[in-house]
Amino acid sequence: MKFETLAIRLQTERSQHHEHCTPIYTTSSFVFDDAEHMRALFANEEQGNIYSRFTNPTVREFELKMAALEQGEDCIATSSGMAAIFATFASLLSSGDHLLMSRAVFGSTFRLNEDYFGKWGITYNYIDPLNNKQWEEVVNKNTKLLYLETPSNPGLDIIDLEKAAAFCKQHGILLVVDNCFATPYLQQPLLAGADISIHSATKYIDGQGRVLGGAIISNKYIIDKIYPFMKNAGPTLSPFNAWILSKSLETLAIRMDRHCSNALFIAEWLERQAKVKNVKYPFLASNEGFNIAKKQMKAGGGMIGFELNGGLEAGRKLIDSRRMMSLSANLGDTRTIITHPASSTHSKLRPEERAAAGISDGLIRLSVGLEHVEDIISDIRFS
Ligand SMILES: *Cc1c(COP(=O)(O)O)cnc(C)c1O
Repeated sequence: MKFETLAIRLQTERSQHHEHCTPIYTTSSFVFDDAEHMRALFANEEQGNIYSRFTNPTVREFELKMAALEQGEDCIATSSGMAAIFATFASLLSSGDHLLMSRAVFGSTFRLNEDYFGKWGITYNYIDPLNNKQWEEVVNKNTKLLYLETPSNPGLDIIDLEKAAAFCKQHGILLVVDNCFATPYLQQPLLAGADISIHSATKYIDGQGRVLGGAIISNKYIIDKIYPFMKNAGPTLSPFNAWILSKSLETLAIRMDRHCSNALFIAEWLERQAKVKNVKYPFLASNEGFNIAKKQMKAGGGMIGFELNGGLEAGRKLIDSRRMMSLSANLGDTRTIITHPASSTHSKLRPEERAAAGISDGLIRLSVGLEHVEDIISDIRFS
């Protein structure tokens, strides 16, 4: 089946009521038939649900859908995108290991490195997405994995996934890709050679700004290594959120098509405005990563970064002159959201850390929604 059909038709659960839509199994635990059944389930000799921190049917349906859509063997759903990232690192890294990360990663991912990994004896280096030579300089015999975001939040850096996968194979390390901005509809990292694809399902997967969630998609071997951490540490996705996210997947393709066409139209319009200094959008021919983006993405996504000639002050004015757009920290919503990374999502980074991550103080991030494109454009006013 094609992506759109799978996203709608993959259904694992149906109760004796023959409902059309999957029910929400809001139960913390499950009952056993008898002492022998209980023993067999705990001994892993028989498949079945024990406790919703371990498995839950509504959550499992979301996991199987995500695995199918990313063309992975299996998936673990998590309570948030950060829970997915943390569970992956906590399961696969040990003290003494070294980690490579693209220089521009999500603010909280960066903070995990800076505030926790060091004290647990995990070392790391940031890599320059466009300079493969520099990768060779920082990889060492203890390097266990390369973690990258493409397109990155908020800089919209594009990294060549096939090249990154070849580099990782050559050095015997795992390639982990945060696929949040692209979604499985626009980009499938595992097909390009990545070992693990990670999502903040909070963003485009939900797509309507309602729930937090995350997902880790990989092969069975890696998922089996991460699952015990999930089971014991407990950053589990709730059945209610899983249900919302499963329903959302049914409309992911059609939503992404509109996010992308609106965003491309607005990015091209912004480029023509005299007061705009530069525009970052993966499918703009003027962008550094354009050819790679064209190769590995179906379309450019819904996120735009731009800077005004007037810098930070002009950006603040533009934000405060909006009438419709939301000023919010989320992204990937039906509603267009404007934000200023340097004073919000990336404010916990020091100025020099922001600069190294390619986030200038004047950068405006636009998460282009599903409103009519003309209404969005008429809400972007330059003073
Ligand atoms: C939002 C985001 C995350 C974190 O996801 P949460 O669901 O907020 O925990 C991770 N990576 C990227 C690229 C994000 O945009």
